[in-house]
Amino acid sequence: SLLKNVAISVATLSLTIYTTYKLTKSYYQGKPPRPKDGVEELIGNTPMVKIRSLSKKTGCEIYAKLELSNPGGSAKDRVALNIIENGEALGYLKRGELGYVFEGTSGSTGISIAMICNSLGYKSHISLPDDTSLEKLSLLESLGAEINKVKPASIVDPDQYVNASKKKCKELTKTNRGIFADQFENTANWEIHYKTTGPEIWDQMDHKIDGFVAGCGTGGTIGGCSKYLKEKTNNKILTCLADPQGSGFYNRINYGVMYDNVEREGSRRRHQVDTIIEGIGLNRITTNFALNEKYIDLSFRVSDTQAIKMAKYLSVNDGLFVGSSTAINAVAAVELAKILGRGSRIVIIACDSGSRHLSKFWKEALTINSNITLEEIV
Ligand code: PMP
Repeated sequence: SLLKNVAISVATLSLTIYTTYKLTKSYYQGKPPRPKDGVEELIGNTPMVKIRSLSKKTGCEIYAKLELSNPGGSAKDRVALNIIENGEALGYLKRGELGYVFEGTSGSTGISIAMICNSLGYKSHISLPDDTSLEKLSLLESLGAEINKVKPASIVDPDQYVNASKKKCKELTKTNRGIFADQFENTANWEIHYKTTGPEIWDQMDHKIDGFVAGCGTGGTIGGCSKYLKEKTNNKILTCLADPQGSGFYNRINYGVMYDNVEREGSRRRHQVDTIIEGIGLNRITTNFALNEKYIDLSFRVSDTQAIKMAKYLSVNDGLFVGSSTAINAVAAVELAKILGRGSRIVIIACDSGSRHLSKFWKEALTINSNITLEEIV
């Protein structure tokens, strides 16, 4: 019986060791990152995850680059930090001295700027339209940004939020240090994606990538990443712009013209896009887009309904709770998979989390049946 007891003990111990090993392996691989000196040091080096549901259905490998894992919740952290560091290099901002960062934005960029400014000791001043979503406004307020609400208007209107911000910057920088971030025109935007996001994707995919999908707001993400990936693959990769309904990029990329008059007839405001999707879609050409559009091969137009359904699909099938622009990218990835064929490897940008879109986009997505199939979406 001693032998029996020893045998049982050995078996129990082995099982415990094996289970602990399995659990440890699945939860934690490699060394944890070292502690950082401040939130700005947490920016970038975001994880990549396979979207198993879409991969299985398409016979491809479709991955999401989780930009939502940045400390400020989106890819805009990279851009905001690069713009601020450029401002410091040029002497417009100085650590330890009062300085302002101005931006006109209804999106994630304001949140990234406010977060980084707080960490580095600057003040942020954000002009935005008064119909900005509650989640983003609350986040900006929580971060203590100075907020200037203006009436929604066209970019050609001097009181439009970007123009209002530029004006405020001119006033305040007469007596203070400060910069106007200018994410649409400032080339520090696409450059940081060329320098960091693109190389990260290339490395994470072990240099094997056939397709890339992103949306376009300022054009920084798609421009910088596409340029880098085209260069690394000797132009072999297919780069794809996922465009929401009513936006002009689809026609610009596929047919060389920006405006789609048919789409624009029902439009509420000039230069504005009628879609539930936030952060992407435009009817004007910005510097960050213009400089890199030659690196974008094709565009798919995705309807609001498709995006809403896809968001629910990814949530229930993959546990991926994403925002509206990520859902658009996922729809376009399925279309791109049809062109590239089985076995190809595609990366999409997962720009931000669903938690930033609860009051509008996810309210709609909640009404979608959990059993929805991919065939009902794409
Ligand atoms: N998705 C979301 C949620 C965004 O806020 C933005 C930026 N406005 C984008 C995508 C598009 O990124 P980019 O500005 O680099 O084109």
